[in-house]
Amino acid sequence: MVRIHAVPAFQDNYLWVLERDGRAAVVDPGDAAPVQRFLEDNGLALDAILATHHHGDHIGGVLELAARWKCPVFGPAHDGVEGLSRRLGEGDRIVVPGLDYALRVLDVPGHTAGHIAYVHEGDDPVVFCGDTLFACGCGRLFEGTPGQMSESLAKLAALPGETRVYCAHEYTMSNIRFAEAVEPGNARLAERKAREAAKRGRGVPTVPSTIAEERATNPFLRCGEPEVAAAAERHAGRPLDGPLQVFAEIREWKNRF
Ligand SMILES: [Zn+2]
Repeated sequence: MVRIHAVPAFQDNYLWVLERDGRAAVVDPGDAAPVQRFLEDNGLALDAILATHHHGDHIGGVLELAARWKCPVFGPAHDGVEGLSRRLGEGDRIVVPGLDYALRVLDVPGHTAGHIAYVHEGDDPVVFCGDTLFACGCGRLFEGTPGQMSESLAKLAALPGETRVYCAHEYTMSNIRFAEAVEPGNARLAERKAREAAKRGRGVPTVPSTIAEERATNPFLRCGEPEVAAAAERHAGRPLDGPLQVFAEIREWKNRF
């Protein structure tokens, strides 16, 4: 069985190390040093590097780790990531070397133009979604449109509910504070806040969550809910025409929250 470990980096990034029988792969190694230390401490050999998008806090350690371990680098075909040995896009399937771990690729543009996500299907489903879907939030729109991002989020929301969501940052508590402003009557959100706050109190990551939990509490996946739409209209000070306008409004709202 593949185990997934969080390697914290910078202020609030998680670099994800996948591991089985002494072999490892890393998703979004923004910094080589903490990954290298984790590999040494746990007696692991690195067999593959996977990238979701081109931002430095996700790929800053790629070239150094690839040179050191002489391992392949998988990443998005159209996002300007250097040093790729395999360029990926929607529908591509890979088996992670060393781990015999199958992943399917989704195009999820919005945060960046060429952002991809990696989905593992089966009994223990997992998605590595970089800076697209966050626990109770979503990434900023640096290169894409609200329409692209909401389509990308809809793809992720359509994954099986039990799918564990490995996003790349610990933003959960501030995302929950915003979600409460949007949807104060959501009982599942109040319950989630208590649970996640307890984890942070113990110094434990709130990530991964699950797709089911995101569907129930993440306002960016709930733009068709009347309470979310009403809050967005109050904030906009005008009527909004449908879930996409609601999404665009609450994404803007969150930028200044
Ligand atoms: Zn990013």
